[in-house]
Amino acid sequence: MKRSLTVAAALLLALLFSGCGLLNELLDSALRDRDEGGGNNVKFSEIVYRRPDLETLSADFETLISALEKEELNVRKAVSRLEKVYGAYNDFYTMDNVAELRYYHDVTDSFYADECDWFLENEPTVDQLFEELCYASANCSIAEELDERFWGGWVIDAYGEPEGGEEPEPGTDDSSREEGTARDPEYLAMDQDENAILAEYRRIMADPTVSWRGEEYSYWSLEQDDSLSPEDWDEVRGLYYDKYAPILGELYLRLVAVRQEQAAYFGYDGYEAFAYDWLYERDYGPAETAALLEQIRRELAPLYGELSLNERWDALRYTELNEEENLEALRTASEQLGGQILLAFREMERCELCDIEISEKKGDLSYQCFLYSYDEPFIFVKTEGWSDDILSFGHEFGHFVDAWYNHNGTASHDLAEVFSQGMEYMLLDAVPEDYREELTEYKLLDTVDTFTQQGSFAEFEHEVYARPASEWTPEALEALSLRLAKEYGYFREGEEDYYAKSWIDINHFFDNPFYVVSYCVSNDAAFQIYELECAETGAGLSVWNKMLPRQNDGFLDTVVGQGGLKDPFGDGRMKEVAALLREKLR
Ligand SMILES: [Zn+2]
Repeated sequence: MKRSLTVAAALLLALLFSGCGLLNELLDSALRDRDEGGGNNVKFSEIVYRRPDLETLSADFETLISALEKEELNVRKAVSRLEKVYGAYNDFYTMDNVAELRYYHDVTDSFYADECDWFLENEPTVDQLFEELCYASANCSIAEELDERFWGGWVIDAYGEPEGGEEPEPGTDDSSREEGTARDPEYLAMDQDENAILAEYRRIMADPTVSWRGEEYSYWSLEQDDSLSPEDWDEVRGLYYDKYAPILGELYLRLVAVRQEQAAYFGYDGYEAFAYDWLYERDYGPAETAALLEQIRRELAPLYGELSLNERWDALRYTELNEEENLEALRTASEQLGGQILLAFREMERCELCDIEISEKKGDLSYQCFLYSYDEPFIFVKTEGWSDDILSFGHEFGHFVDAWYNHNGTASHDLAEVFSQGMEYMLLDAVPEDYREELTEYKLLDTVDTFTQQGSFAEFEHEVYARPASEWTPEALEALSLRLAKEYGYFREGEEDYYAKSWIDINHFFDNPFYVVSYCVSNDAAFQIYELECAETGAGLSVWNKMLPRQNDGFLDTVVGQGGLKDPFGDGRMKEVAALLREKLR
């Protein structure tokens, strides 16, 4: 059982967040000390994209796997061949990320759109080969030497067959599973189904259209169109939701169904427990989440109403901000924060490792990825031209510093989010004076929003996956979405239709199931950094820096153990959060 689960974890991790888990552990074993400078001088614009040669890659993997199985190689030769195929594997995912970054830079670029589809289609094959290589490495006569000299001491634990063969788990009588899931066509088929649905989702989202006043329009273009009056925009948005809530509802339920099959395949009662165990390297479970959500509903949902948050949002004013000003604001802040943050900023600037251009053609998302072959992170930020772009940039920059310093070695997403959200809070007093007040107001309102909305989204997923997909309809999803908006305090009178249908805007429901609760969990740890900064300048920064070197992988181990922060699931935490927000937002 354990072996099969490891395979699932690896495959899904590779699919969802290529570069986590196994890859990280590999990179960890080849750490280069960032303190001594280093990095390379290749600028992103100079990286030449070419589609990987899948035939050669597959042949090299297969030859090596077979040679390991037949015990044909000595340790030295095996290590050198492993290095070669691992290089090709890294190159595959580097080019994958380069293609995606260039596609998101201009979503009308059909060349990179096709390349991204090609990667989506071929990732499962490459991941499967990688899995098979892990098996072969872990179960040959030189396994111990290979684990020590190449894999960094984890591959036997994860893939080694116990001496004398494994006892079949009760209820699994399918002998093909005994062979290892990576070779099981049934699993691979489910995996490809999931990817195919996701590809369909991306195609729809790349260019949704609405028929408005007798003409067909690109929805994203109308969204950017400043000449639309608020009434026009309401109408257009309504048309979009009316058209796409049923379409995306059907698509989502197909995804839920295939994910429920995956969980059942591995002997889980439901997908939620499966996702917690194997997708995000979490050191807490659904029970802790449920308790946290209960605190959010009790302490923070009422705060939303008390603050009349909607009017506060409407009253927010931002300064116009171009790309150079955005970069300059972060430079000023980095100089004040110093240390690794400043070193990382300089590396990012020198190698052009960020995309903060303001452009209508950019994909509507912000994220950090890793260019494995260059050992450098890259951040993509959807900027709009206003001062709150500083925080979007700052958020991804927090990920950048962590990924750069630790060679993408932070396995826990919750922990990764402490660095990004913590960075946002630290920026509030480190950016140039002009932006401080508006950004602080924005960020604190955003904090209330994050806890309540993301909390409600976490509950949405919990409820959806608790029942078989076949029992749901798109209309039932809408009713659920509306009910939760009311329970979590952010519902606005007269906006029933919006709160019922806007669940389709949550990309994570599709791409990263059961991820959203991480925003609440990590935001509490990040907010504690802010609480410390409020009490004494530099106190939060010192905790942020203290947590940066990876002593262990766990979220709670690092946040509570290494950083000395309070347990975010602890009783009364949300009460403390609500109290500080009330005081600051008075
Ligand atoms: Zn993030």
